[in-house]
Amino acid sequence: MKCPRCGAWSDVAATRPLFRGFVVQRSRDCANGHRFQTYEIGSAALGTVRARLRDASITAERRALQYRRDAEIARRLERGEQGRHLAAEYGLSTSSVSLINRARIRKSCKP
Ligand SMILES: [Zn+2]
Repeated sequence: MKCPRCGAWSDVAATRPLFRGFVVQRSRDCANGHRFQTYEIGSAALGTVRARLRDASITAERRALQYRRDAEIARRLERGEQGRHLAAEYGLSTSSVSLINRARIRKSCKP
């Protein structure tokens, strides 16, 4: 297998079974000294691995959307918009908006 960093051929340095042997992790070293890992997934475990990857990406996407929303609310609070109006607009409780506001104040107080 070629190194993802430099394209040189690699050798297997170590092999480790994971998840009761359904997944095999290999550490590989290329001719230029780059170490990287590959994972070999048995077909019996493929469905589970796919489901976990899907769940992880859904969670990451949800967090990114929430982060963007909170940043927007913080900017609007900064400009003097009313917390209760923003709460109604975003479908949040006023205490959620207060938490976002407190996080904003904490950040702006940092040196
Ligand atoms: Zn390399």
